[in-house]
Order: sequence, then structure tokens, then C-alpha cells
Amino acid sequence: MDELRNLLDAFGAIADHPEKTALAWKEKTGGKVVGVGGLDIPEPLVHAAGMLPVVLLGNEDEVTLANAHVEMHQCGYIRSLVDLALKDKLAFCDELLFHDCCHIVRMLVDAMHTYKDGIPKAKFAYFSPLLEYETAQRYTASEMAKLRDTLGEAAGKPITDEALSESIRLFNRQKKLFQKLYALRQAKPGVISGWDMTQVVAAGMVMPREDSIPMLEKLCALLEAAPAPAAPGIPVVVHGSLCERCSRSVLDEIEACGGVIVNDDLYVGSKYFNTLYKEDLAPMDALLDAYLHRVSPCPTRYEERDPGDYLAQLVSDSGAKGIIMVVVKFCEAHDYLYFTAHRRFEQLGVPEMLVETVHEGAAEGQIKTRLQGFFEKLGV
Ligand code: SF4
Repeated sequence: MDELRNLLDAFGAIADHPEKTALAWKEKTGGKVVGVGGLDIPEPLVHAAGMLPVVLLGNEDEVTLANAHVEMHQCGYIRSLVDLALKDKLAFCDELLFHDCCHIVRMLVDAMHTYKDGIPKAKFAYFSPLLEYETAQRYTASEMAKLRDTLGEAAGKPITDEALSESIRLFNRQKKLFQKLYALRQAKPGVISGWDMTQVVAAGMVMPREDSIPMLEKLCALLEAAPAPAAPGIPVVVHGSLCERCSRSVLDEIEACGGVIVNDDLYVGSKYFNTLYKEDLAPMDALLDAYLHRVSPCPTRYEERDPGDYLAQLVSDSGAKGIIMVVVKFCEAHDYLYFTAHRRFEQLGVPEMLVETVHEGAAEGQIKTRLQGFFEKLGV
């Protein structure tokens, strides 16, 4: 058991301090670190250029310096990232690369560059949010090709197809290990807590992916050997928390109130790894295919399918009794997705609860009371 706890703590330390791992990697390899915003950035392109992609997740520290420059009615993720930049805590990044997924992200970059000197000029990936049209798909393919050139220039060497194919295989290996971990959790509910799982995924999003593989393999082996907890609780799925880690207090409270998380559709969760790259396609085609056919619906793009159908299916496939929708306050895109999904849940009879989170001072008492009521209804 100590071995498991030690390993989970090692993941947690990496997730909490990505800069330490990134700086150690930089010293060892002499490579550049690329701070990445958005799950649609094709990370294998960064890796194939010999650089380390570190997904920027912000943190739960109090926002102070950014309050002078960013309105309180912007999402906590953006306020946190601007604050980190102003406090020199993104200085470990040699490059910044954001997906132009919402207008708030553009504001983030403007604020960072206006109020802080010495921050690398952020690059943007402009991929079409419309997925159904052939013209949009062609446009996105040409933007990905441009991004390949841009990253090659930043790295000082062009990205070859061979290197890209190898990187794709590596990222797929990591994704499959995450999928295995999730399957183990679903088979033995409660074998790993919601927060520990979040930290495992967060670490995998920031550390050298090669180094994450043996750690994830070890974790799979330990969870396979661990006994299934007796009476783990009422199984639920958790969704949301764009573009950050789901707050520890929310995840812990779900478990304290009698629930057990058997699956998720979280940003730092299955959204990161449930779309595999097709290794039988040419590598650039595989990146485009993954963008166009993302498994989990993303609120920042237009899709014909109803996100409620996807989430209801996730609940049913996971053997869950309901779903907890964690929506970050002031994320307009997610608000729209929430109301669409909510309507569908009502039609399908899927028990659902909304938890709205803010960066500072989440109403923990109120959330706890409402969670208790939700689990009572589900039959705790
Ligand atoms: S998608 Fe939502 S959470 Fe992410 S940066 Fe935009 S407003 Fe913030």
C-alpha cells in the first residue's frame, strides 16, 4: 500500500510543480519547453520537434497581481494563468502555444504581453470550430501544416514524418495506459480516489511523456493487484472543469457524501486521452483525423451531435447512477453545452447535478449540502 501511496505522491508532486520537471528536462536535453493551452494542440508535433509540451493548467493559488489587469468576470483559468505569468511562474517556458478556442484565450495572451516583459510571444493554432464542412477541414489541415513549419523553425530543425510517426506512437502508448487505468477504476470503484486520478493525468500532461510510461505501467500493476474496496459508494460520472484540474474540494466532497467516481469527462481526465491517433494514416492525416473526430464533445466547437447523448451513454456504460456537471463560472462556451446537455438528461431521465466553481472561495458548504441531497435522491 505504501508503494502505491508513494507512487501517487510522486505523480502529485509533478502535477503541482510542472516547472521543476520541465527545468530538469531542459538541463538534461538542452531542448525547449513549450507551454501549451488547449487539448486540441497536436502535441506530437511539439514532441517531434524535440521540444517538451507542458499543458498549462493554472493552479488554485489565490489570484493577486492579475486582478489589476483581468476582470473578475473572466474564467478562473485565465485569471490564474495571467497571475502566474506576472509572478514569473511561466518563465520555464521557452515558447507558448495556444489553441484559439475562445475569445478569452486571446485576451489572456494580450494581457500577458502587455503587462509583463520577457514572455515569449505566444503562437496560436487557428483550427476551425466547425467540423462538418469539407472547406473547414481543408482549412484546418493547412493550419496544421503551418504549425508544423512554425514549430520546426522554433526548434531549429524541420519535423520529419518519421519523427512525427514515432511521437504519435508514444502519445498513443500514454493514452492507452490512461485508458487501462480508467478501466481498472471502473472495475474496482474506489481503488483510487478522484483527486489522485486527476493528479496522475495532470502529471502525464506536463512531464516528458517517455518518463510517464514506466510510472503509469507501475500504477496499473499496483491497481491490478489491489483488492476491490468493499461498499465503495454510489457510482457517478463527473464532467467538465474546463480548462483546469477539477477542484480537489469538489472531488473529495463527492466521495465524502457517499459517491464514488467510476468515470469522467473532465478536461484533466478522459478528455485528454480518449481520442487515439490512427497509426495507419499518414502522420499529418492522423493529427487532423483526431481533431475532427474527438471522442468527447468540446463546448468550444460546433458539432451536430448532442453532448447530452454522449454523456448519458458514458453514464450508462460506466454503470453510474448519475452525473455531476462541474461548470467553471464565466466560461460561456461551457454554459451553452451545459444547458443543451441538461435538457437531454431530462428527456432521457439521467439524474444530474450542476456544480458551478469559481477560482476563489467556492461555496463549499453549499456544494456539500447539495451533494448530500443528490446522493440521498440516488439512494445512499
Ligand atoms: S474555454 Fe472556458 S475555461 Fe477555457 S479559457 Fe475559454 S472561457 Fe476559460
